[in-house]
Amino acid sequence: MTHFDLLLRGGLVIDGTAAPDAARHADVGVLDGRLTLLPPGAPAAARETEDLTGLVLAPGFIDVHTHSDGVTLIDGELGGDMVRAAVLQGVTTEICGNCGSSLFPALPGRLAAMRAETRVYFGGDVGMYEGFAEFAAAHAAVPRANHLTSLVGHGTLRAGVIGPVDRAATPGELDTMCALLDRALSAGAAGLSTGLIYTPGTYASTDEVVALAAVAAAHGKPYVTHLRDEMSRVEEALEEAVEIGRRSGAPLHVSHHKTAGKYAWGLTRRTLPKLAALRAEGMDVTCDVYPYTAGSTALGAMLPPWASDGGIAALTARLTDSGQRDLMRRAIAEGVPGWENTVGNGGWDRISIACAPRHPETEGHTIAELAAARGQDPVDMVAELLVAEQGEVTIISHSMIEDDVRRVLAAPYSMIGSDGVPKPGGRPHPRWAGTFPRVLGHYVRELGLLSLETAVHKMTGMAAARFGLAGRGVIRDGAHADLVVFDPGTVADGATFVDPLVPPSGIHSVIVAGRTVVRDGAETGARPGAVLST
Ligand SMILES: [Zn+2]
Repeated sequence: MTHFDLLLRGGLVIDGTAAPDAARHADVGVLDGRLTLLPPGAPAAARETEDLTGLVLAPGFIDVHTHSDGVTLIDGELGGDMVRAAVLQGVTTEICGNCGSSLFPALPGRLAAMRAETRVYFGGDVGMYEGFAEFAAAHAAVPRANHLTSLVGHGTLRAGVIGPVDRAATPGELDTMCALLDRALSAGAAGLSTGLIYTPGTYASTDEVVALAAVAAAHGKPYVTHLRDEMSRVEEALEEAVEIGRRSGAPLHVSHHKTAGKYAWGLTRRTLPKLAALRAEGMDVTCDVYPYTAGSTALGAMLPPWASDGGIAALTARLTDSGQRDLMRRAIAEGVPGWENTVGNGGWDRISIACAPRHPETEGHTIAELAAARGQDPVDMVAELLVAEQGEVTIISHSMIEDDVRRVLAAPYSMIGSDGVPKPGGRPHPRWAGTFPRVLGHYVRELGLLSLETAVHKMTGMAAARFGLAGRGVIRDGAHADLVVFDPGTVADGATFVDPLVPPSGIHSVIVAGRTVVRDGAETGARPGAVLST
C-alpha cells in the first residue's frame, strides 16, 4: 500500500479536462509532488488525510494573463496583501510578461537605461534581466507560494534594441530582436507577447511582428497579443493579429478580448464568430478574458503615441510644454489614425486612478472629478500627475458592457486571465484578487452562464495546453500536485473597486507542488513556488 504525503478523500474531482466525465467522485493521493487517483474509499495510508466531503477538488488555477513580473521582487520575501492575493484565489501558476512588457531579455549595455522605462508598467525598482535564466534566478532568491512563468515582451525587445523611439527597426535591429527572443524561448520562456497600443510596441509595423512571431512559431510557442485597438477599430486590429498568426505560423492567442468604448459595444457579436470560423478552418486561435466590465492600464496610454516618442524624459518634457499639451488635447478630441483613443471612446469620467505612489489621495477618483476639484482641464491635470509620478500611474477604465463580457466568457476557446497589475500600494483593479472566484460564484453559480466543469477547464487544462505547462492543469496519475479545493456553494469574490484586495470566500485550500500554501483562506507560510520553464 502506497504511503502518501497527503490524501484528499471524499471530494468531487473536477479534473480540468473537457472530457464528459471531467467531474466525478475520487480520492487523490499526493506523493513527492505528484498525483495518484484512487477509487472513493480505496485503502490507502498517508501522513495527512483531509476529508473534502461537499467540496470540489480541481487543478490549481492558471492565471494566463498577469503583470505580476516583479511584485514579489519589490515586496520582499513574505510579500503583502498584493502578493498573496493571487494564491488566496486559488492561482497556482501565474503567466506574466504580457502586453509586450517583460523583465527580460536585454542587451547587457542597455539594462540601466531600460530600468527607467519599465517603472511605468511594474512600479518600483524591479530591474531588468539579460535573459529568462537571470529572471528565474532573481525570483528563485525570493521564495514564493505559487509558480510563475513569463512570456517575452515585444515592447521590452524593442526598448532594449531600438530604444523608446518612434521609427521602424533596421534589418540588423530586427535580427538582434529575433536572436534575443530565440534565446529566451530556448531557455524556457512561454511565448511572445505584444502590446500594440503601448509605446514602444505601437511603433512596430505588422511585418516586424510577423518576423518575431515566426521565431515563436519555430519553438511551437504562441504569439500572444494585446490588439492594436480594442475599441472602435477592434475588427481591423483583430485582422492584423490573424495576419500575423497566418504569416508567421505561430498559434495565436488574443489577450483579454474585449470590445470597449461606446462605439464598439456589441462588437463581440462580430469578433467571436470570426474567431470561431478561423478555428473551424483549422487555425489555432484562442483568447483570454477577465470577468469585469472595467479595464486597467497605464495613464500614459491615454495620450497619443507621439507624446512618448523618446521615452519618459521626452514625455515629461512635452507634458510640461503648454503647446504640446494643446496638441494632446486636440489629438484626444479628434483622434489620430491608427491610435486607440480611450478617452475619445468614453470620457475622463469613466477613468479613475488606480495607483499613483506619490499621490495616493488621487486613488479611487475619476480624472473628471479630480480635474473639476482643481478647476483644471483634465489634460492639464493628467499632465501634472504624470510628471509628478515620472509616468508611473495606473488607471481603471469603465469601458465595457456586460453582454460583451458574457459572450467572451462563454466562448468555448476563451480561458481565464486576471490581467492583474499588482504594485505595492495603490488601489488596483479588483480582478487581481477576485477573478477566479468571481467566475465560479457569479457566472457559474448565480447566472448559470457556464457549467462548473467548463469554467474549471478554462482556468486549468485549457490554459496549460495553450502555454505548454506539461503535467499541469489536470488531475490525473503523475500530474503535478498543484490543486485547489473550493466550496461550489459559497465560492465568491470579495474584492471590489472600493476595497480591491478583500480575499474571496469559499476557497478552502490551495496546494502547490504537493504542499499546502493556503488553508481555510489563509496562507500557511509554505513557499514551494518555482519559475517554470516551458
Ligand atoms: Zn493588455
